[in-house]
Amino acid sequence: MRDKDLYAQILGIKSPWQVTGVELALSEGEVTVHVEQKRNARLCCPTCGKASPGYDSRIRRWRHLDTCQYRTILVADVPRVTCKEHGVVTTPVPWAESGSGFTALFEALVIDWLKEASTSAVSRLMGMSWNAIDGIMQRAVKRGLSRRETLSMTRIGVDETAFKKRHDYVTIVSDQEDGTVLFVGNDRKKATLKSWYENLTEKQREAIKSISMDMWPAFITATLESLPGADTKIAFDKFHVAKYLGEAVDKVRRQEHKALMAEGYVDLKGSKYDWLTNPENMTRQQKYRFKTLRDSTLKTARAWAIKELAMSLWHYVSKTWARKGWEQWLSWAVRSRLKPIKEVARTIKEHLWGILNAIILKVSNGPAEGINSRIKMIKVRSRGFRNKERFANAIYFHLGGLDLYPESLMQ
Ligand SMILES: [Zn+2]
Repeated sequence: MRDKDLYAQILGIKSPWQVTGVELALSEGEVTVHVEQKRNARLCCPTCGKASPGYDSRIRRWRHLDTCQYRTILVADVPRVTCKEHGVVTTPVPWAESGSGFTALFEALVIDWLKEASTSAVSRLMGMSWNAIDGIMQRAVKRGLSRRETLSMTRIGVDETAFKKRHDYVTIVSDQEDGTVLFVGNDRKKATLKSWYENLTEKQREAIKSISMDMWPAFITATLESLPGADTKIAFDKFHVAKYLGEAVDKVRRQEHKALMAEGYVDLKGSKYDWLTNPENMTRQQKYRFKTLRDSTLKTARAWAIKELAMSLWHYVSKTWARKGWEQWLSWAVRSRLKPIKEVARTIKEHLWGILNAIILKVSNGPAEGINSRIKMIKVRSRGFRNKERFANAIYFHLGGLDLYPESLMQ
């Protein structure tokens, strides 16, 4: 008799439920705890809460946290009631969410482990199938997303991240203030981002003050078509502009290096990363070597100087002065006789409105960059994902800032 009380206490089983038996299977390292509702317990329909007559009952099993190193299984005869309005329905149990084969405490433990390790690692650790662990993770995300109704965000970032192959992307919308992922879209098409905007309330849409993004046309049109006053809120931030210019500098370097090599000159050999590294992050030796390069009359040095000048044009407070600064830069870039630079300059000219927004609204893409590198870590840890749905689930699980734990009435 004593062990029933002990297990009732360990498991937190309270009236009207009671522990009616404990079976120990020593060789299997398993303990089965039988739980029953008291005969005179009042039964209610779980949907409307009205007292309803019992219909029948079903034996159900849940895996619980191990007790004293034994795998612990809860078994209960769960009554079903007939409600006048809702028909025959299973009554809820206080230790698990409906439809789960695990108690809430067990699911919470798996969720905690999943935050630290991959699905495969947790499945090995818990001696459970990969699918069972994945099921707990998927339910946790679903639960978390359904609880997340009162989102209010003012500064968001829209970005893309590669799924498996280089040209297969998903859209990531993030909250730039708390660094959480708000939405993972299946591709990077206009309709995908639009559908997210459309699911927001009018109040939520109006609260958005800035949207940081790269110059991807689908993101721009989706935002212009969905948010009021988007033309003053879309911000092409410094990071993305730097990326375009960095690519142009690299193109100039490759072309020039090829031409020089053809004539037997090796001036640019092995310098690729010198041009791409922020001089502030260079060692003294690197700085010294790079100084001679960038002070040279090489085309690459000119392209680099144009890029660096653009990087210094982000401090303005007034839009008028910012515009003047950029227009000067544009006229220099266009006359540079460097084709890749001229091409980017054309893109920048077309998108100058959004660059000026970024400067005035002081938008940086820093938070989104942090998210991107965390997504990369998730990918590495799980060694890739079978499909985009799983990929999205993992992103929501780790970066969604969601309340993932199951509801449990047992304390
Ligand atoms: Zn009912």
